[in-house]
Amino acid sequence: MSVIQVTRSSMPHFDEYVHEIKELWDSRWLTNMGMKHNELEKQLCSYLQVPFVSLFSNGHLALEVALEALELDGEVITTPFTFASTTHAIVRRGLKPVFCDVNPIDYTIDVSLIESLITDKTSAIVPVHVYGHMCNVKEIESLAQKYNLKVIYDAAHAFGTKLNGKDVGSFGDVSMFSFHATKVFNTIEGGALTFNNELYVNLFQSFKNFGITGPEDVSYVAGNAKMNEFQAAMGLCNLRHVDEEIAKRKHVVEQYKKELSGIEGIQLSPEQEGLQSNYAYFPVMFNGYKYSRDEIIKRLAEHDIFARKYFYPLTNEFACYEGKFDLGSTPVAAYIGNRVLTLPLYADLNLEDVNRICTIIKS
Ligand SMILES: *Cc1c(COP(=O)(O)O)cnc(C)c1O
Repeated sequence: MSVIQVTRSSMPHFDEYVHEIKELWDSRWLTNMGMKHNELEKQLCSYLQVPFVSLFSNGHLALEVALEALELDGEVITTPFTFASTTHAIVRRGLKPVFCDVNPIDYTIDVSLIESLITDKTSAIVPVHVYGHMCNVKEIESLAQKYNLKVIYDAAHAFGTKLNGKDVGSFGDVSMFSFHATKVFNTIEGGALTFNNELYVNLFQSFKNFGITGPEDVSYVAGNAKMNEFQAAMGLCNLRHVDEEIAKRKHVVEQYKKELSGIEGIQLSPEQEGLQSNYAYFPVMFNGYKYSRDEIIKRLAEHDIFARKYFYPLTNEFACYEGKFDLGSTPVAAYIGNRVLTLPLYADLNLEDVNRICTIIKS
């Protein structure tokens, strides 16, 4: 039996990629908003149904740029049930993360708790669309309006998801996507910001390119976070196949659900109403099951099957933040973090392997 990793990167055929990059040997234009980059931005606007897309070298730097360019200060309300990147970006920008708990249904920010965390120092909310579930965007929007806060979504998990037909990237002031190799859509490393405000086009363009605003003008002290032509070419190829990849993921998820639903102590997250999922991850909660989450991981690993404790530890529990945050403030996130496991999921995972994984879990 072959090894099954928790994920496997989607790749186009070798020949398709070679064909895509061939022109670069003529143009000799390898980065700095080249033709592949501009073409990918255009195609992503159309695919994601948003007016503006700005590409980045990775999702993390895209998020840092969004926080920086929107001139946020003081406190930012966010959740610790996320990847390191979300919290690190906030802290690295000199902002104070104020951790809000998540709800136990879809593991996104608990909107009923946000208002109690808002102070006169709060400048923004940074919610995370975990696993491709969507946050309660409507409630977040009304709070943001009421208190005049910016909303920057971490949509790294949510490429292609839609709520009642409206794309995830169209909510809030800005959404950040990651196109890392392990995500549903990848450009090897890469990321993007989507937004509706035309004023951000030049702002983000400048902030990812040393603050340069003209041939002899440098208006901001900014770094470098540009996507290069080889990344963009990978994106152009992968975008042609992403719908097919999502459809295959859906089959895998349906098989998991068939095998694992209705079992005492195994909790699957319910489908959100009106949500068209991208099937990015398959989280399972072992909550009073005959084996603990950690026992399940061990049993699977004995069969060369690798699941992931995602997200554990919570970001507010990281060693680098020791003593900085009140760990008791997010009990639901802690409860989920101790019991959740994301099972292997990728487009080409075959259904026999899914059955094998489920048999090991159930036996
Ligand atoms: C992957 C990921 C990021 C970071 O994206 P990179 O492209 O790897 O920099 C940020 N937030 C979440 C939730 C992620 O899963």
